[in-house]
Amino acid sequence: MYDIAIVGAGPAGMTAAIYGARGGKKVIMIEKLSYGGQIINTPEVENYPGTNVVSGVELAMSMYDQASKLGAEIDFQEVTGVEKRGEGDFLIKTASGKEIGAKSVILSTGVKARPLGIEREEKLVGLGISYCATCDGAFFRGKDVVIMGGGNTALEDAEYMATIANKVYLVHRRDQFRGDEITVERLRKKENVELILNSLPAELLGDPRLSGIKIKNVETGEEREIECSAVFVAYGHIAQNQAFADITELDSAGFFASGEDCMTGTKGLYVAGDCREKNRRQLVTATSDGAVAAMNAIDYLNSL
Ligand code: NAP
Repeated sequence: MYDIAIVGAGPAGMTAAIYGARGGKKVIMIEKLSYGGQIINTPEVENYPGTNVVSGVELAMSMYDQASKLGAEIDFQEVTGVEKRGEGDFLIKTASGKEIGAKSVILSTGVKARPLGIEREEKLVGLGISYCATCDGAFFRGKDVVIMGGGNTALEDAEYMATIANKVYLVHRRDQFRGDEITVERLRKKENVELILNSLPAELLGDPRLSGIKIKNVETGEEREIECSAVFVAYGHIAQNQAFADITELDSAGFFASGEDCMTGTKGLYVAGDCREKNRRQLVTATSDGAVAAMNAIDYLNSL
């Protein structure tokens, strides 16, 4: 029986593990894939206080190292649900059939990539469609690539790919970028980057591999075919919390309904990071949530 079971080992979960373990509690993180969450897809993090510029992977490894040195454990399992059997008595169920008991639970399940939503997208995943330029970009060295989106991920992906690819097209649906102006300015100065605004994807070209994308200008209706070897989709993320809908409330978009205190309607159950409803999803807000959730869980445990 653990004191705190943390579902998801991204920055929010790992911070919760650090705070929980430092609070003298027996902590386990349960993670489906690999620890680190979204930051492992970020080549350079330059807005996390105290780190100046650090690679996302390096930061994730350092957080994990810190949590495990403090005694937090990790188990790689896909969590399929959480049941509350009584006060201070939760059962975490996993896809492998393994069950883990804990007195309190922190859900820090993160989010998943939003797709383009056009025909043949799923079929072309791994054949030219990717949701992670940091992970797959190196396969397209010297090629022409397209990045879709206008947030910080798209901008940073374009910046990263400009160092690897022959030519980078950044396609965004509006005439203003959502991401930071400082990065847009850097991109405008790059000779091998073309910014294409007011445009949406219309068709994926090539069979069996992707050979290009047709895009459509939303103002003029004009269509354009771009020859490319890869399309990196950076359309933000969607919640993946359905497995927990019976133990805590979700908002209309599927995020956990909770305030800055990371509390839920279920005593002893907390939510932290991008998976909960919030206006600002940043690394620093995720780690903040992890600390808040863990401190509230410690108070709960001490009150049992
Ligand atoms: P995001 O900020 O939500 O941006 C998603 C982008 O995709 C937006 O430009 C959006 O367009 C576009 N988009 C979404 N759905 C679309 C659709 N159906 N059709 C066409 N375009 C669509 O996501 P993100 O870039 O992954 O960033 C997520 C969070 O992480 C943000 O808070 C971001 O600042 C943060 N982040 C920070 C760093 C860093 O600081 N180093 C790096 C990466 C991400 P609209 O703009 O028109 O809505």
